[in-house]
Amino acid sequence: MDISQIINELGEDRENYFNAVAPPIMQTSNFAFSKVADLRKAFEDEMGGYLYSRGLNPTIDILRKKLAALDGAEDCLVFNNGAAAIFAGILAHVKAGDHIVSVKAPYTWVQRMLDVILPRFGVTSTYIDGTKIENWKAATKVNTTFYYLESPNSWDFAIQDIRAVAALAKSKGITTLIDNSYCTPIYQRPIEMGIDMAMQTATKYIGGHSDTLGGVLSGSHAIMEKIFNSEYLNIGSGIQPFNAWLMIRGLRTLPARLAQITHTTAKVNAFLSNHPAVERVIFPFNPSFPQYELAKKQMSGACGLQTIVMKTRKMDDIVRFCESLHHIMMAVSWGGHESLVIPKCAGLNPADFNPENPEHRYVRLYTGLEDADYLIADLDQALNQAG
Ligand SMILES: *Cc1c(COP(=O)(O)O)cnc(C)c1O
Repeated sequence: MDISQIINELGEDRENYFNAVAPPIMQTSNFAFSKVADLRKAFEDEMGGYLYSRGLNPTIDILRKKLAALDGAEDCLVFNNGAAAIFAGILAHVKAGDHIVSVKAPYTWVQRMLDVILPRFGVTSTYIDGTKIENWKAATKVNTTFYYLESPNSWDFAIQDIRAVAALAKSKGITTLIDNSYCTPIYQRPIEMGIDMAMQTATKYIGGHSDTLGGVLSGSHAIMEKIFNSEYLNIGSGIQPFNAWLMIRGLRTLPARLAQITHTTAKVNAFLSNHPAVERVIFPFNPSFPQYELAKKQMSGACGLQTIVMKTRKMDDIVRFCESLHHIMMAVSWGGHESLVIPKCAGLNPADFNPENPEHRYVRLYTGLEDADYLIADLDQALNQAG
C-alpha cells in the first residue's frame, strides 16, 4: 500500500464518527456488553475485541494498523515508550538457561536489561561487534535463542548486514529483534529482510514534536498475540489513547519532516566536514563511513543524527562548544522539531577523559526542522569558541 494511503486513510473509519477528518480519542478505560456470551468471548480472546483499555482501544488500533503497514508487518503493538517495547519483545522470548547475542553498546536500557535484570532469571548475554557476520556465528552457543540488533547504532552508526544475520538466525531457530529507531520504516524495513520483530521508539521521529513518548514493536500476528496475552497485558505498558492520537497526528507529517531533516542534515554535514575544529564527522551516508556500501544497500535514507569528532586534546573545548550554542539545545532524545547536541563526555568522570580515545571527543548532533543556514551559523560561532 502507498505510504500516503497508510498515513492518511488506513485504519480510519470516518463515517462512524461524523466524517470527522481527525479521529476521536476514545478516552475510556472499559467497554460495555449487553450479552453474557459476548463478554465470555472477550475474556477468552482479549485481542479479538474491546474489553479494557490496558488491552485494545479503538484510537490505538488506528495507530497499530498504520504502523504495522509502514513496517510491512502483519501486526504491531504500541507501547508507552520504546524501552517498554524492547523489554516485552525480549522477555516474551527467553527463559532460564537461554543465551542472547547482542550488538555491543545497544541502547542504554537494553544493556541494563541484559546486564542487570535478565541474569537474575538465569538468562545470559554476549555482546559482539555486530558489523561482521563471523562474530555472530562465533558467539552463538547451543543455548542461544535470541539475537538483538540495532542498525544503525545511534552514536557511531555501526550497522549489521540485516539479511545475513536474519538468515543465520533462521537457520538455527533463533528469534531476532532489531532497534530500527534511527531509520524508521520510511528508510529501512527489516521485517522484509527476514527479521522477526522490528522495534522503533515513536518518541523520536513519529511523535516528532518532543511532547510524547511511545514505542512500536511489529512482526507476525502470532508473535504479537503471544506478547499481547502475556507481557503487554501483564506489565500494562501500552500507549494511552491521547498519546496514540498525538502519534497519529505526528505520522501525517512524518515523510515531509524526514525529507526536510535529510536535506538539512546533508548541508550541515558538508559544513562540519570542512571546519578546522572538527576532526571528522561520522554519518552512514558519507563515503568515508566504513560501512558506506552496506548502508546504501539496506537503507534508503539516513537523516538527522550525525556525530562530530572534535579536534582537540582538552575536554574544556568540547564543553565550551556545547555551552556556546545559542539556538541548538543540549538535551537527550532526538527526532523532534528542535536541533540538539549531546557530548559523550557528559557521561564520563572528567578525570577519565582521554583525548587519545576518539569516542571521548564525540558530540552527537541532531538536526531538526530549523533552516540549515540558521543552524550552520550557530555551529560556526560555537566551534570558533572551542578552538
Ligand atoms: C530513545 C531510544 C530508545 C528508547 O525509546 P523511549 O521511547 O525513549 O523509551 C530506544 N532505542 C534508541 C536507539 C533510542 O534512541
